Amino acid sequence: MKIGFVGLGHMGSGIAANLLKGGHELTVWNRSPAPAKALAENGARIARSPEETLQGDVLFSMLANDAAVHEVGLDGVLLDQAKSGLVHVNLATISIDLARRLAKTHAERKFGYVAAPVFGRPDVAAAGQLVVVAAGSENDLSRVRPLLACIGRRVDVAGKAPEQANLFKLAGNFMLAAAIETMGEAFALVRKGGIDAHLFHDVLSNSLFACPAYQGYGSAIVNAKFEPAGFPLKLGMKDVRLALDAGRDLVVSLPVANLVHDHFTEATVAGMADKDWSSLGGYLAGKAGL
Ligand code: NAP
Repeated sequence: MKIGFVGLGHMGSGIAANLLKGGHELTVWNRSPAPAKALAENGARIARSPEETLQGDVLFSMLANDAAVHEVGLDGVLLDQAKSGLVHVNLATISIDLARRLAKTHAERKFGYVAAPVFGRPDVAAAGQLVVVAAGSENDLSRVRPLLACIGRRVDVAGKAPEQANLFKLAGNFMLAAAIETMGEAFALVRKGGIDAHLFHDVLSNSLFACPAYQGYGSAIVNAKFEPAGFPLKLGMKDVRLALDAGRDLVVSLPVANLVHDHFTEATVAGMADKDWSSLGGYLAGKAGL
Protein backbone atom coordinates (compact mmCIF):
# COMPACT_ATOMS: atom_id res chain seq x y z
CA MET A 1 0.00 0.00 0.00
CA LYS A 2 1.01 3.63 -0.43
CA ILE A 3 1.37 5.06 3.06
CA GLY A 4 2.20 8.54 4.34
CA PHE A 5 3.76 8.90 7.80
CA VAL A 6 3.93 12.09 9.87
CA GLY A 7 5.81 12.24 13.20
CA LEU A 8 9.05 10.29 13.41
CA GLY A 9 9.85 10.69 17.10
CA HIS A 10 10.86 7.90 19.50
CA MET A 11 7.74 5.90 18.64
CA GLY A 12 7.03 6.95 15.06
CA SER A 13 10.48 6.05 13.72
CA GLY A 14 10.27 2.40 14.79
CA ILE A 15 6.66 2.05 13.68
CA ALA A 16 7.40 3.53 10.24
CA ALA A 17 10.39 1.18 9.87
CA ASN A 18 8.10 -1.81 10.48
CA LEU A 19 5.65 -0.62 7.81
CA LEU A 20 8.60 -0.44 5.42
CA LYS A 21 9.67 -3.96 6.42
CA GLY A 22 6.09 -5.07 5.67
CA GLY A 23 6.73 -4.15 2.02
CA HIS A 24 4.73 -0.92 1.93
CA GLU A 25 5.65 2.21 0.03
CA LEU A 26 6.29 4.96 2.58
CA THR A 27 6.43 8.75 2.22
CA VAL A 28 7.56 10.32 5.48
CA TRP A 29 7.61 13.80 6.98
CA ASN A 30 9.00 15.05 10.27
CA ARG A 31 9.36 18.60 11.60
CA SER A 32 13.09 18.12 12.18
CA PRO A 33 14.80 16.40 9.22
CA ALA A 34 17.16 13.84 10.82
CA PRO A 35 14.69 10.97 11.50
CA ALA A 36 13.31 11.13 7.94
CA LYS A 37 16.84 10.83 6.54
CA ALA A 38 17.43 7.70 8.63
CA LEU A 39 14.28 6.07 7.19
CA ALA A 40 15.18 7.12 3.65
CA GLU A 41 18.26 4.90 3.98
CA ASN A 42 15.82 1.98 4.29
CA GLY A 43 13.75 2.96 1.27
CA ALA A 44 11.30 5.62 2.47
CA ARG A 45 10.67 8.69 0.33
CA ILE A 46 11.10 12.00 2.15
CA ALA A 47 8.18 14.39 1.67
CA ARG A 48 9.07 18.05 1.16
CA SER A 49 5.90 19.08 3.03
CA PRO A 50 3.24 17.31 5.14
CA GLU A 51 0.79 17.60 2.17
CA GLU A 52 2.80 15.00 0.24
CA THR A 53 2.10 12.39 2.92
CA LEU A 54 -1.64 12.64 2.22
CA GLN A 55 -1.46 11.43 -1.38
CA GLY A 56 -1.46 7.67 -0.66
CA ASP A 57 -4.11 5.17 0.53
CA VAL A 58 -3.43 5.61 4.24
CA LEU A 59 -1.84 8.31 6.42
CA PHE A 60 -0.30 7.36 9.77
CA SER A 61 0.45 10.10 12.28
CA MET A 62 2.37 9.78 15.55
CA LEU A 63 2.69 13.34 16.86
CA ALA A 64 3.43 14.36 20.44
CA ASN A 65 0.10 15.86 21.51
CA ASP A 66 -3.04 17.83 20.56
CA ALA A 67 -1.06 21.00 19.86
CA ALA A 68 1.25 19.21 17.39
CA VAL A 69 -1.74 17.71 15.52
CA HIS A 70 -3.20 21.20 15.24
CA GLU A 71 0.07 22.85 14.21
CA VAL A 72 0.63 20.31 11.44
CA GLY A 73 -2.96 21.02 10.27
CA LEU A 74 -4.39 17.50 10.53
CA ASP A 75 -7.51 18.87 12.22
CA GLY A 76 -8.31 21.17 9.31
CA VAL A 77 -6.55 22.90 6.44
CA LEU A 78 -4.08 20.14 5.62
CA LEU A 79 -6.91 17.66 5.05
CA ASP A 80 -8.17 19.77 2.16
CA GLN A 81 -5.01 18.71 0.28
CA ALA A 82 -5.58 14.96 0.79
CA LYS A 83 -6.25 12.37 -1.91
CA SER A 84 -9.84 11.19 -2.02
CA GLY A 85 -10.52 7.94 -0.16
CA LEU A 86 -7.66 8.45 2.30
CA VAL A 87 -7.87 6.78 5.73
CA HIS A 88 -6.00 8.52 8.54
CA VAL A 89 -4.70 6.32 11.36
CA ASN A 90 -3.83 8.47 14.36
CA LEU A 91 -1.53 6.55 16.72
CA ALA A 92 -0.88 9.38 19.20
CA THR A 93 -2.28 9.69 22.69
CA ILE A 94 -4.55 12.72 22.30
CA SER A 95 -7.55 14.17 24.13
CA ILE A 96 -11.06 12.81 23.82
CA ASP A 97 -12.15 16.25 22.67
CA LEU A 98 -9.66 16.35 19.78
CA ALA A 99 -10.44 12.72 18.86
CA ARG A 100 -14.12 13.66 18.47
CA ARG A 101 -13.27 16.74 16.42
CA LEU A 102 -10.93 14.76 14.16
CA ALA A 103 -13.60 12.12 13.52
CA LYS A 104 -16.05 14.88 12.54
CA THR A 105 -13.57 16.81 10.37
CA HIS A 106 -12.57 13.68 8.48
CA ALA A 107 -16.18 12.53 8.02
CA GLU A 108 -17.18 15.95 6.63
CA ARG A 109 -14.50 15.55 3.94
CA LYS A 110 -15.38 11.87 3.35
CA PHE A 111 -12.02 10.61 4.65
CA GLY A 112 -11.72 7.61 6.93
CA TYR A 113 -10.46 8.11 10.48
CA VAL A 114 -9.17 5.45 12.86
CA ALA A 115 -7.79 6.18 16.32
CA ALA A 116 -5.16 3.55 17.12
CA PRO A 117 -3.19 4.54 20.23
CA VAL A 118 -0.58 2.05 21.35
CA PHE A 119 0.85 0.51 24.52
CA GLY A 120 4.61 -0.17 24.57
CA ARG A 121 7.79 1.84 24.70
CA PRO A 122 10.10 2.82 21.81
CA ASP A 123 12.05 -0.48 21.89
CA VAL A 124 8.75 -2.39 21.72
CA ALA A 125 7.64 -0.17 18.82
CA ALA A 126 10.90 -0.88 16.98
CA ALA A 127 10.38 -4.62 17.50
CA GLY A 128 6.84 -4.45 16.04
CA GLN A 129 5.44 -5.76 19.32
CA LEU A 130 3.08 -2.94 20.34
CA VAL A 131 -0.38 -3.52 21.78
CA VAL A 132 -2.68 -1.54 19.48
CA VAL A 133 -6.14 -0.44 20.59
CA ALA A 134 -8.15 0.80 17.62
CA ALA A 135 -11.57 2.35 17.13
CA GLY A 136 -13.42 3.49 14.02
CA SER A 137 -16.01 2.33 11.52
CA GLU A 138 -15.89 -1.31 10.43
CA ASN A 139 -15.07 -0.24 6.88
CA ASP A 140 -12.11 1.95 7.92
CA LEU A 141 -10.83 -0.67 10.36
CA SER A 142 -10.93 -3.46 7.80
CA ARG A 143 -8.83 -1.38 5.40
CA VAL A 144 -6.06 -0.70 7.90
CA ARG A 145 -6.08 -3.91 10.00
CA PRO A 146 -3.25 -5.60 8.02
CA LEU A 147 -1.12 -2.48 8.56
CA LEU A 148 -1.81 -2.47 12.29
CA ALA A 149 -0.79 -6.13 12.35
CA CYS A 150 2.64 -5.03 10.96
CA ILE A 151 3.28 -2.79 13.97
CA GLY A 152 1.77 -4.71 16.86
CA ARG A 153 1.66 -8.16 18.41
CA ARG A 154 -1.98 -7.58 19.33
CA VAL A 155 -4.68 -5.43 17.75
CA ASP A 156 -7.95 -4.95 19.62
CA VAL A 157 -11.01 -2.89 18.79
CA ALA A 158 -12.42 -0.65 21.53
CA GLY A 159 -15.52 0.49 19.64
CA LYS A 160 -16.88 2.31 16.60
CA ALA A 161 -16.31 5.86 17.89
CA PRO A 162 -12.59 6.76 17.53
CA GLU A 163 -12.47 8.54 20.90
CA GLN A 164 -13.21 5.21 22.64
CA ALA A 165 -9.70 4.00 21.73
CA ASN A 166 -8.24 7.21 23.18
CA LEU A 167 -10.24 6.80 26.39
CA PHE A 168 -9.00 3.18 26.64
CA LYS A 169 -5.39 4.36 26.25
CA LEU A 170 -5.75 7.22 28.76
CA ALA A 171 -7.26 4.88 31.36
CA GLY A 172 -4.38 2.42 30.79
CA ASN A 173 -1.72 5.10 31.15
CA PHE A 174 -3.41 6.36 34.31
CA MET A 175 -3.02 2.84 35.74
CA LEU A 176 0.69 2.87 34.85
CA ALA A 177 1.16 6.31 36.44
CA ALA A 178 -0.61 5.11 39.59
CA ALA A 179 1.69 2.05 39.69
CA ILE A 180 4.75 4.32 39.47
CA GLU A 181 3.31 6.49 42.26
CA THR A 182 2.65 3.55 44.60
CA MET A 183 6.04 1.98 43.91
CA GLY A 184 7.75 5.33 44.58
CA GLU A 185 5.92 5.64 47.90
CA ALA A 186 6.45 2.00 48.94
CA PHE A 187 10.15 1.97 47.99
CA ALA A 188 10.71 5.16 50.00
CA LEU A 189 8.94 3.59 52.96
CA VAL A 190 11.03 0.40 53.02
CA ARG A 191 14.27 2.28 52.39
CA LYS A 192 13.62 4.59 55.35
CA GLY A 193 12.99 1.51 57.47
CA GLY A 194 16.42 0.15 56.57
CA ILE A 195 15.22 -2.51 54.11
CA ASP A 196 17.02 -3.17 50.82
CA ALA A 197 14.68 -1.75 48.15
CA HIS A 198 16.26 -4.04 45.51
CA LEU A 199 15.21 -7.08 47.56
CA PHE A 200 11.74 -5.61 48.10
CA HIS A 201 11.32 -5.02 44.36
CA ASP A 202 12.70 -8.46 43.47
CA VAL A 203 10.31 -10.26 45.83
CA LEU A 204 7.19 -8.28 44.91
CA SER A 205 7.75 -8.11 41.15
CA ASN A 206 8.36 -11.85 40.98
CA SER A 207 5.37 -12.84 43.11
CA LEU A 208 2.27 -10.71 43.69
CA PHE A 209 3.17 -8.07 41.09
CA ALA A 210 4.77 -10.26 38.42
CA CYS A 211 4.05 -8.15 35.35
CA PRO A 212 5.95 -5.83 33.00
CA ALA A 213 4.74 -2.57 34.59
CA TYR A 214 6.05 -3.43 38.07
CA GLN A 215 9.14 -5.20 36.78
CA GLY A 216 10.25 -2.51 34.31
CA TYR A 217 9.31 0.68 36.12
CA GLY A 218 10.21 -0.82 39.52
CA SER A 219 13.68 -1.63 38.25
CA ALA A 220 14.10 1.92 36.90
CA ILE A 221 13.10 3.36 40.30
CA VAL A 222 15.33 1.14 42.49
CA ASN A 223 18.28 1.72 40.17
CA ALA A 224 17.45 5.45 39.77
CA LYS A 225 17.85 5.00 36.01
CA PHE A 226 15.65 7.66 34.49
CA GLU A 227 17.68 8.50 31.39
CA PRO A 228 17.45 8.09 28.47
CA ALA A 229 13.72 8.69 28.77
CA GLY A 230 11.66 6.06 26.95
CA PHE A 231 8.55 8.02 27.87
CA PRO A 232 9.29 11.49 29.22
CA LEU A 233 7.54 12.69 32.36
CA LYS A 234 6.05 15.64 30.45
CA LEU A 235 4.14 13.22 28.16
CA GLY A 236 3.03 11.10 31.14
CA MET A 237 1.74 14.24 32.85
CA LYS A 238 -0.13 15.15 29.66
CA ASP A 239 -1.85 11.74 29.69
CA VAL A 240 -2.92 11.98 33.34
CA ARG A 241 -4.28 15.48 32.65
CA LEU A 242 -6.23 14.09 29.66
CA ALA A 243 -7.59 11.27 31.86
CA LEU A 244 -8.73 13.90 34.39
CA ASP A 245 -10.41 15.88 31.58
CA ALA A 246 -12.18 12.70 30.45
CA GLY A 247 -13.26 12.07 34.06
CA ARG A 248 -14.79 15.56 34.23
CA ASP A 249 -16.55 14.99 30.91
CA LEU A 250 -17.96 11.61 31.95
CA VAL A 251 -18.55 12.64 35.59
CA VAL A 252 -16.13 10.14 37.12
CA SER A 253 -14.16 11.12 40.19
CA LEU A 254 -10.44 10.27 39.82
CA PRO A 255 -8.79 11.25 43.11
CA VAL A 256 -5.64 9.18 42.52
CA ALA A 257 -5.16 10.85 39.13
CA ASN A 258 -5.40 14.25 40.84
CA LEU A 259 -2.70 13.27 43.33
CA VAL A 260 -0.40 11.83 40.64
CA HIS A 261 -0.88 14.95 38.50
CA ASP A 262 0.13 17.15 41.45
CA HIS A 263 3.27 15.04 41.96
CA PHE A 264 4.11 15.22 38.23
CA THR A 265 3.72 19.00 38.48
CA GLU A 266 6.09 19.15 41.46
CA ALA A 267 8.60 16.86 39.70
CA THR A 268 8.43 19.12 36.63
CA VAL A 269 9.22 22.16 38.77
CA ALA A 270 12.14 20.15 40.18
CA GLY A 271 13.51 19.81 36.61
CA MET A 272 12.40 16.28 35.70
CA ALA A 273 10.12 16.97 32.69
CA ASP A 274 12.45 15.35 30.16
CA LYS A 275 13.47 12.39 32.33
CA ASP A 276 11.54 9.13 32.11
CA TRP A 277 8.18 9.30 33.91
CA SER A 278 9.43 6.64 36.36
CA SER A 279 11.56 9.48 37.78
CA LEU A 280 8.41 10.31 39.74
CA GLY A 281 9.63 7.47 42.02
CA GLY A 282 12.95 9.28 42.46
CA TYR A 283 11.12 12.52 43.21
CA LEU A 284 9.02 10.79 45.89
CA ALA A 285 12.20 9.35 47.46
CA GLY A 286 13.53 12.91 47.69
CA LYS A 287 10.28 14.08 49.29
CA ALA A 288 10.76 11.38 51.91
CA GLY A 289 14.20 12.82 52.68
CA LEU A 290 16.19 10.12 50.90
P1 NAP B 1 8.55 12.22 20.72
O1 NAP B 1 9.74 11.35 20.58
O2 NAP B 1 8.65 13.47 21.51
O3 NAP B 1 8.06 12.56 19.22
C1 NAP B 1 7.05 13.51 19.01
C2 NAP B 1 6.86 13.74 17.53
O4 NAP B 1 5.96 14.85 17.36
C3 NAP B 1 8.16 14.13 16.79
O5 NAP B 1 8.09 13.65 15.47
C4 NAP B 1 8.09 15.65 16.83
O6 NAP B 1 8.85 16.27 15.80
C5 NAP B 1 6.61 15.84 16.58
N1 NAP B 1 6.15 17.17 16.99
C6 NAP B 1 6.04 17.65 18.25
N2 NAP B 1 5.54 18.90 18.23
C7 NAP B 1 5.36 19.21 16.92
C8 NAP B 1 4.86 20.35 16.25
N3 NAP B 1 4.46 21.43 16.92
N4 NAP B 1 4.81 20.33 14.91
C9 NAP B 1 5.22 19.24 14.22
N5 NAP B 1 5.69 18.12 14.78
C10 NAP B 1 5.75 18.10 16.14
O7 NAP B 1 7.30 11.44 21.34
P2 NAP B 1 6.99 9.86 21.25
O8 NAP B 1 7.55 9.20 22.46
O9 NAP B 1 7.32 9.35 19.90
O10 NAP B 1 5.41 9.91 21.46
C11 NAP B 1 4.52 10.22 20.41
C12 NAP B 1 3.08 9.93 20.88
O11 NAP B 1 3.01 8.54 21.28
C13 NAP B 1 2.65 10.74 22.10
O12 NAP B 1 1.28 11.06 21.97
C14 NAP B 1 2.87 9.78 23.26
O13 NAP B 1 2.02 10.08 24.35
C15 NAP B 1 2.53 8.45 22.61
N6 NAP B 1 3.17 7.27 23.20
C16 NAP B 1 4.48 7.30 23.60
C17 NAP B 1 5.05 6.14 24.15
C18 NAP B 1 6.48 6.12 24.62
O14 NAP B 1 6.84 5.22 25.39
N7 NAP B 1 7.33 7.03 24.19
C19 NAP B 1 4.28 4.97 24.28
C20 NAP B 1 2.96 4.97 23.81
C21 NAP B 1 2.40 6.11 23.27
P3 NAP B 1 10.41 16.60 16.09
O15 NAP B 1 11.16 15.32 15.87
O16 NAP B 1 10.72 17.65 15.09
O17 NAP B 1 10.49 17.11 17.51
